[in-house]
Amino acid sequence: MIYYHKKSDFCKVKENKIRKIIHIDMDAFFASAEQRDNPNLREKPVAVSGSGNRSVIAAASYEARKYGIHSAMPAIVALKKCPFLIFVRPDFNKYKQISEQIRKIFFEYTDLVEPLSLDEAFLDVTENKINLPSATIIAKQIKKKIKEQTELTASAGVSFNKFLAKIASDHNKPDGFFAITPDKAEEFIENLEIRKFFGIGKVTAEKMHKYGIRNGYDLKQKSLQYLIKRFGKQGKYFYDIARGIDNRDVNPDRLRKSIGTEKTFADDIFNIENIYEKAEQIAKKLIARCRNAETYGKTLTIKIKYSDFNQITKSKTLNYTIKDIKTILSLTDELFNDTDLSYKPIRLIGMSVSNLDHKIKENAFQLSFDFK
Ligand SMILES: [Mg+2]
Repeated sequence: MIYYHKKSDFCKVKENKIRKIIHIDMDAFFASAEQRDNPNLREKPVAVSGSGNRSVIAAASYEARKYGIHSAMPAIVALKKCPFLIFVRPDFNKYKQISEQIRKIFFEYTDLVEPLSLDEAFLDVTENKINLPSATIIAKQIKKKIKEQTELTASAGVSFNKFLAKIASDHNKPDGFFAITPDKAEEFIENLEIRKFFGIGKVTAEKMHKYGIRNGYDLKQKSLQYLIKRFGKQGKYFYDIARGIDNRDVNPDRLRKSIGTEKTFADDIFNIENIYEKAEQIAKKLIARCRNAETYGKTLTIKIKYSDFNQITKSKTLNYTIKDIKTILSLTDELFNDTDLSYKPIRLIGMSVSNLDHKIKENAFQLSFDFK
């Protein structure tokens, strides 16, 4: 049975336009970064891993993968598969720094960037800062810039939703590019092996195999009721993705740790009334940002920078989320009471909430570190 549908049935339309989503994924990220910085590791089987007996592989170079070595494999098992495997300790500061470099490139095109891990992100480029109509051209430019600025390769996938963009980036790895357009989506999904579906892990894939579901075509034959009965809430997600339907937004606030705002004053302030007045303005802006992001937190932090650039921060944590300006102002009052405001003129006040509650936008697939 072939499932027919109009384009509009499965593409989320944003202001009458089909969305353009890019997924970027660095190739063998940690291992490639180590090979970049140490010529002795190049073209050799390398595993980034801790040194303990019980350590597992965080990333394997493509040369190591030829021996069947992959991330999450115990180091001892990996060594049996490849006795001359070279182990390298992870250097997270290095990876974070590269991660910041690539994110800067993403932000040249859009602010709708949702990082999934240090080396992976979704970008919504339906509207973009350089007004390029082609997501393919943008993805290729990003790949080129990443290569120029980090000497590392990334793979890019382009499609009209997150699920398909993610699968597309995996399709021609490493240094790959692949686009799944609406007219190609149905055939692509039908032929896709179930274990390659984004959001279907090893355990779920095995369970699906038991029910005779080996590819997207098989999955599409199952009713919504059938899938919900066997896979619970995820059943709906599986039902939809078999039909290329994934309306989840690219959510730039997903990994955010805090939401904040600050104001540097044109002239330093020292009058207490003036300080409270400014604080109220900043609090209003802060709560507006929280509402905008649909994300709230339990901890309020205030920052005060004095005219001599000395700065202090003070925090208070509640056992419930801060959702209104009244709460922010009463916390601010408490924190101010605990602060010497007459010490020196103040040049900046900042406020942020952290300890964020991300539950609001949770979705079917888990946030996982992807070491591919
Ligand atoms: Mg990767």
